[in-house]
Amino acid sequence: SKEDVQAFLKKHAFVLFTVGAVIVGIALGFVLRPYKMAYREVKYFSFPGELLMRMLQMLVLPLLISSLITGMAALDSKASGKMGMRAVIYYMSTTFIAVFIGIIIVLVIHPGKGSKEEFGKQQTIEHVSPADAFLDLIRNMFPPNLVQACTQQFKTKYGKRSYHVSVTVNDTLFNSTNGTQEVMEITREEVIPLPGQVNGVNALGLVVFSMCFGLIIGNMKEQGQLLRDFFDSLNEAIMHLVAIIMWYAPIGILFLIAGKIVEMDDLTQMGGQLGMYTITVIIGLLIHAVLILPTLYFVITRQNPFIFIAGLVQALVTALGTSSSSATLPVTFKCLEENNKIDKRITRFVLPVGATINMDGTALYEALAAIFIAQVNNIEMNFGQIITISITATAASIGAAGIPQAGLVTMVIVLTSVGLPTDDITLIIAVDWFLDRLRTTTNVLGDSIGAGIVEFLSRHELQTRDVEMGNSVLEE
Ligand code: ASP
Repeated sequence: SKEDVQAFLKKHAFVLFTVGAVIVGIALGFVLRPYKMAYREVKYFSFPGELLMRMLQMLVLPLLISSLITGMAALDSKASGKMGMRAVIYYMSTTFIAVFIGIIIVLVIHPGKGSKEEFGKQQTIEHVSPADAFLDLIRNMFPPNLVQACTQQFKTKYGKRSYHVSVTVNDTLFNSTNGTQEVMEITREEVIPLPGQVNGVNALGLVVFSMCFGLIIGNMKEQGQLLRDFFDSLNEAIMHLVAIIMWYAPIGILFLIAGKIVEMDDLTQMGGQLGMYTITVIIGLLIHAVLILPTLYFVITRQNPFIFIAGLVQALVTALGTSSSSATLPVTFKCLEENNKIDKRITRFVLPVGATINMDGTALYEALAAIFIAQVNNIEMNFGQIITISITATAASIGAAGIPQAGLVTMVIVLTSVGLPTDDITLIIAVDWFLDRLRTTTNVLGDSIGAGIVEFLSRHELQTRDVEMGNSVLEE
């Protein structure tokens, strides 16, 4: 009946808007493509999308800190130890499964047949030693200055801070001789940031600090009450801001997607190997996201995984639009807590850590891409090298920050570890913006399903804690 339809629309308005935004965004992008907009015009056009990115990123820092501190403080050390163990086991095992799928798929499909000439010109990418990169990762877990960790980029002692690649774009430039605007081809330097940089925040260091701090104030009895209340209230306030931004999100997503489609390279110009490579990555990610993760969820919780995933649609679409799991974090929180009713003690603790270190899509991608590059160079990887790739791909996915194209840069470590040419990363840059969106969506799905599974496994501890505390601080 009419009321039913109205009720349905009202209940699912957000989801419908968000999904609609993706569809309209894609359509609009393809409609506008033939007009060959200049670089600057594309930037003007996608401005509403840029604003969404900025709004979401604005919330990441306070959200990450307040959720982790209150999440840890709400658990006693024994319970948080157990839950932490479960989360870590989940992260590690799903990451390994993802790497395994990536390797199998790329070996079976073998997309790298043919010669390297097909790709055209390459650029030089500097080598980073895996040992130095690993030490940098550990170093950054302990930021010497907390204020700096909030404002300054992830520091590397030995590697470079970022990579510059030059891209050629059409831009409108002012011609001073005749006073007109002209479209010209210019070469711009694009900076790909190094692992761990989340819009100028050392996220990993803050995660480590906030977890320890939360654990301490959780054990402090009355003396810790002020701090517990403060961060709890801060977290609530941020979540209210998220609710407002979510109304704007569909508009932002629409323009982010349309803008990207307008400026992307011509698909028909894509070489055979790169096309096959893209398809191989898509198949790998689909197997992991649609088959493995839902099955795992079902086997452990005995509940329908697709109902769970339906509650996450907005987070997944935001990941697709922003290609950043940190920028998506606020939306992931909202979906899990409000649609899927996951206990806040779990989300606050599992999600920020997951968004920083658990990246199944990235891990799958790194292993697959490394072997693809070996194939393009006609180098056979032996068993030992494949094992090395799987280990470094896991490490690289942990080290990759939840920002656009971070995974592309941490690939340097994987390639170096088995002696493959790091310059060849530039071969796959052309399709990375697209594959990045898909792996980010897989990353967010992995974190969310992890929250569902950890909650299920921890139901006993959560109940005991409820009884002990009368009613929990986080229960409304
Ligand atoms: N963009 C991805 C993310 O935010 C990381 C990557 O580049 O793989 O999850």
